[in-house]
Amino acid sequence: ATAFGIEEALKELGLNETNNGTSTGKDWFSNGDIIESYSPVDGALIGKVKSTTREDYEKVINSAQGGFKKWRTMPAPQRGEIVRKFNDELRRLKEPLGKLVSYEMGKSYQEGLGEVQEMIDICDFAVGLSRQLHGLTMHSERPGHRMYEQYHPLGVVGIISAFNFPVAVWSWNTALAWVCGDACIWKGSEKTPMTSVACQNIAARVFAENDVPEGISCLITGDYIVGEFMTKDERIPLISATGSTRMGKIVAKTVGERLGKSLLELGGNNAIIVTPDANIKNTVIGAVFGAVGTCGQRCTSTRRLIVHEDVYDKVKNAIVDAYKQIRIGNPLDENNHVGPLIDKDAVQNYLKAIEKVKSEGGNILVEGGVLEGEGYESGCYVKPAIAEAENHYEIVQHETFGPVLYILKYSGDLENALDMQNGVRQGLSSAIMTNNLREAERFLSVEGSDCGIANVNIGTSGAEIGGAFGGEKETGGGRESGSDAWKVYMRRQTNTINYTTELPLAQGIKFDL
Ligand code: NAD
Repeated sequence: ATAFGIEEALKELGLNETNNGTSTGKDWFSNGDIIESYSPVDGALIGKVKSTTREDYEKVINSAQGGFKKWRTMPAPQRGEIVRKFNDELRRLKEPLGKLVSYEMGKSYQEGLGEVQEMIDICDFAVGLSRQLHGLTMHSERPGHRMYEQYHPLGVVGIISAFNFPVAVWSWNTALAWVCGDACIWKGSEKTPMTSVACQNIAARVFAENDVPEGISCLITGDYIVGEFMTKDERIPLISATGSTRMGKIVAKTVGERLGKSLLELGGNNAIIVTPDANIKNTVIGAVFGAVGTCGQRCTSTRRLIVHEDVYDKVKNAIVDAYKQIRIGNPLDENNHVGPLIDKDAVQNYLKAIEKVKSEGGNILVEGGVLEGEGYESGCYVKPAIAEAENHYEIVQHETFGPVLYILKYSGDLENALDMQNGVRQGLSSAIMTNNLREAERFLSVEGSDCGIANVNIGTSGAEIGGAFGGEKETGGGRESGSDAWKVYMRRQTNTINYTTELPLAQGIKFDL
């Protein structure tokens, strides 16, 4: 841990051995069992965080509710000013936080920094948004009446996030929710507890310095049981949950039973269609980064490559060649492209997927396997693999959360590729590589991709914060981040005002007394 400046980074973030997740001085937020966080990079213990008990949770929700009552009355641009100050701290701490993300989650340092940059960008977006939370005005059908709509803060928002974007997903939700006037309670992934505490430390410090009421940013820690404290709680009007489809189905049901709102960001099974008119060089860059970046652990990772038969061999050979250049190793070493998987369970799932595609008749083009020896002691480093497969294979229909790419062949018209692309249960990200205008437009048309994200001549992986992010079908239908995604964090109210001395009724109804 001393190499690559990890000790210094932990210190700068206020994380040391004694804090045990209570460094904000709020020992109410964690008094339960200890969760130990081990790095997939080198297997070392990074730190220990206390989990949240039921009693702790009651204190947290009370604190959040109390804080909300004050926060909601502060003018939105003033709330934006607090987010701007929080963002100053993110800019100052970008390097240590990016490093901790890389060390605790296993993504490359560049990607760790990129994740913090996304936090910075969404905060900038939120600051501007704080002056633009507008509704519409309508013409009333009644004389002397005015009608308009306005957006009010919603209340306490529960955020449940996944291990693979341990900090960005929190900020996508929280930066918007804060300017909207909500208080947030965050349960980060139990696999990345230290990054959660680091973020909470930053928010708590900035808020305290600016007299923001306590409870606007709360952290709870633990596994699904702690998540359920929130999903079952009627005091939380909105649950924003990011993670597997399995989790999303349970959360949707639990929150739905109490008629709460849920914003779901679940698994993907993302494909790139490569047509005969594709630029092959760009296709290879997009596909390889999409498949092996973050060791295949992005919700938008490229899982399927749907290639036309006319260019099939050319694309296949170019990608197999490109895989020979990939350097796997410590993600903090900027010479490496691919770091470890999150843990040994993930390694087992990856190995099972390779066995499964073989047993279903797939042809392995690039062999996978677990790496051993110096630098790979954590047991979490694997080789990115490629298999020729068919879309209907059960394993291809599933999201394998690791670096396994399936190459599928199509012939004839683009419609055949679209049938394959859309022929899975997930609907997050999709892409087409083509220089043919008709194909590009068809891909984006009503008869084209059924995903929440559809790209032309870029890959499936990653997204800018300015657009609404999310997907259809088993991806859950939620949208967060840019565009008008903020509306889910507010409640809409329609107002009609009569400024006459009469009371005319709507639809011309007469009610003479
Ligand atoms: P996961 O579903 O195992 O866990 C996600 C979070 O949900 C964790 O905090 C976990 O504790 C919590 N959780 C699990 N069951 C719960 C329950 N019943 N009630 C309340 N909370 C519960 O997912 P993971 O392994 O951390 O992340 C990988 C998955 O996340 C992949 O499927 C990936 O595609 C998906 N993901 C989606 C997006 C997106 O925006 N669509 C972004 C990142 C990750």
